[in-house]
Amino acid sequence: MSFQFDDELYRDIILDHYRNPRNKGDLDPADVSVSANNPLCGDEVTITARLGDDGETVKELHFSGRGCSISQASASMMAEEIQGKPLLEALKLINRFKEMMLAEGDAEGLGDLEALQGVKKYPVRIKCAVLPWNSLLQGLTERAGESVGPEAHSHTVGGMA
Ligand code: ZN
Repeated sequence: MSFQFDDELYRDIILDHYRNPRNKGDLDPADVSVSANNPLCGDEVTITARLGDDGETVKELHFSGRGCSISQASASMMAEEIQGKPLLEALKLINRFKEMMLAEGDAEGLGDLEALQGVKKYPVRIKCAVLPWNSLLQGLTERAGESVGPEAHSHTVGGMA
């Protein structure tokens, strides 16, 4: 890895999540299951989630995959931040994170996620950071558009299954 972060704190947060990932492993069964990859970097990520009985809360959120420290740390941070949140708040946070990474959105209130702002200096790595978030967003959006069913939803985006 050849990252140079100006801020050592940011680097430490990212490396901590990379080395000690939170909520790693697949939930089975899951209400939401989305796999995606980033061919530019070779990152692979699978997001699985269970919703609360009312379908309005992200009760559990896990990830699995492999790839660079940015993609895996971002997935770990996402799992930690989103798990337990009401669905609407989860969607808001996804959008705020994407605004921070892809536009000029500020990092206020985003906690450790602010560390990923350092990646914006490396445009090719922004995709790494956003990959898990886009996957979760797609999974939640598709889930919301479905009629209620007992089966886990499975979907693969961005290449080979
Ligand atoms: Zn990557």
